Amino acid sequence: MITADAIKIKKTTKSRIPEVDFNDLGFGKVISDHMFVSDYKDGEWNNAHIEPFGDIAFSPSMLALHYGQIVFEGMKAFRTKDGNVSIFRIEKHYERFIKSMERMCMPVMSYRLFEEGLTNLMKVDQAWVPGSEGSALYIRPFAFASEERFGVKISSEYKYIIFSGPVGPYYDKPLRVKIEDHYRRAARGGTGSAKCAGNYGASFYPTHLAKMQGFDQVLWTDGSPELNIEESGTMNVMFVIDGVLVTPPLSDSILDGVTRDSFLTLAHELGIHTQQRTVSALELEAALEKGTLNEAFGTGTAAVAGAIQSIDIKGKDYTVPVPENGVMVKLKNLLTDIRTGKAPDKYSWNTIINCK
Ligand SMILES: *Cc1c(COP(=O)(O)O)cnc(C)c1O
Repeated sequence: MITADAIKIKKTTKSRIPEVDFNDLGFGKVISDHMFVSDYKDGEWNNAHIEPFGDIAFSPSMLALHYGQIVFEGMKAFRTKDGNVSIFRIEKHYERFIKSMERMCMPVMSYRLFEEGLTNLMKVDQAWVPGSEGSALYIRPFAFASEERFGVKISSEYKYIIFSGPVGPYYDKPLRVKIEDHYRRAARGGTGSAKCAGNYGASFYPTHLAKMQGFDQVLWTDGSPELNIEESGTMNVMFVIDGVLVTPPLSDSILDGVTRDSFLTLAHELGIHTQQRTVSALELEAALEKGTLNEAFGTGTAAVAGAIQSIDIKGKDYTVPVPENGVMVKLKNLLTDIRTGKAPDKYSWNTIINCK
């Protein structure tokens, strides 16, 4: 069993923090000083350690590059109002990571390894957690098949790495989306509910085509004649129809988003009715025509929530209201307050790293 003492820590001799402009972080550009690494070999996860972030060497025959056994997580840590660091919903992310690993036939790791990897890395890189409004430290745990051999097989060796990087506020303008009625992100029985790299690779081309047509993102459907809505780009999708917060139910073609789950919980707290049920393009079209679609938005760790300002259904463009203090904004604000310690953490979502 791995313990905190067993995690060897080799710190950088030259932090890159002085080179970083924390007022111009952008998203996904800046990477913190250290990374956590563990290797799976001979049936065990071992060699847990923290080292300076840097390149790794591998053989071109490494299995992940050929057959795609790669899974990842996207999480965030926040600077709390009293100066500590708070990591959001480690357990929920762990459960999903394990599910993704199982679906990709990869050996799961203990909660302890996942949790201690994260908390120890956050202790070492705590200075990288930004404090300005809307900013956070984005954390990327991922695992891949590292056996060097090109014959098709389930890898017997894996590498697990966690690195992080500070990100600024994600002020995106409301999105213009189209219902994608040809390409699909995920199929029933496929890998849509696993956070695996291949799902992203497969979504790029249809998204690129939509962008060429002037849209920001696509609304994925289940490919049925009813065009039941599944997700929005790389986010879960929510609609406010006649005052009720509606989101498609989880299935093996929908990713179980931590933000989705958190929003549903917080909606109850705010007295907003919620429904997890099928939403078809037809229903959306009718609601748009009657004016009962009050809001539409995506949810995900990166942006937290992103408003949708228009939906194209089979070539017809409908405008969606983007209220200034609607359901999305209320939920986003409450979530931010919980994560930064401004609102009580009733659901024990935060893991606090004491920075004194
Ligand atoms: C990661 C992801 C989401 C959002 O999940 P969060 O846990 O809220 O970040 C939604 N859809 C897909 C396809 C994803 O990969």
